[in-house]
Amino acid sequence: MNKEELEIIKRKALDEHIPIIMDDTLEIMEKYLNKLKPKRILEIGAAVGYSAMCFCEFLAEDGVIDTIERDEERIKEAKENFKKVGVENKINLYEGDAVEILPTLNEKYDAVFIDAAKGKYPFFLKESLRMLNTGGIIFADNILYKGYVMSDYNKHKQRTAVRNLREYIKEVSENSNLQTEILEVGDGLAISKLK
Ligand code: SAH
Ligand code: MG
Repeated sequence: MNKEELEIIKRKALDEHIPIIMDDTLEIMEKYLNKLKPKRILEIGAAVGYSAMCFCEFLAEDGVIDTIERDEERIKEAKENFKKVGVENKINLYEGDAVEILPTLNEKYDAVFIDAAKGKYPFFLKESLRMLNTGGIIFADNILYKGYVMSDYNKHKQRTAVRNLREYIKEVSENSNLQTEILEVGDGLAISKLK
């Protein structure tokens, strides 16, 4: 893997205000994923492929990542980036809306990274649980959404997102098959392990 290229891609994404994974969030995930040694990771929301390329380092040998993106410009850039970094044979990019693509998938995953439309998190959770192996982990990024989720704030144009993020937290907390932690790292990270 070409780490210099990866660093250039990261800089460009930050310059263009693409919401790539934050360093401290990645660091926490690294700890979990190094232990888990996932054979297959599902990512919902690829953007230009930065986080997926980072996750390649944590895969088991011959492991793969399936990632989903709907924005055509970002899809094009992600594909170029995978080649530049030399990970194009480890990452499958599904092009289109995750709401339509997820129900067509029937793989088994050791880890899932949810990082797309916040209003769809409960749906992404349902689909992820359907495909998650026992012992597998679902990570949900931006779960605290700038603090809105834990405040009484509800008059915002983003209130649908906030409502659905709260619903996600409620569902993972009440599901007795899951062991969940909510961390304040980055924009908030929910980590749920399937017992
Ligand atoms: N995981 C990336 C950042 C993803 S940003 C990283 O850390 O590098 C969120 C991305 O999700 C955006 O590019 C957006 O286009 C995409 N997205 C949002 N909702 C989606 C949906 N329903 N289906 C597919 N992609 C979606
Ligand atoms: Mg994010």
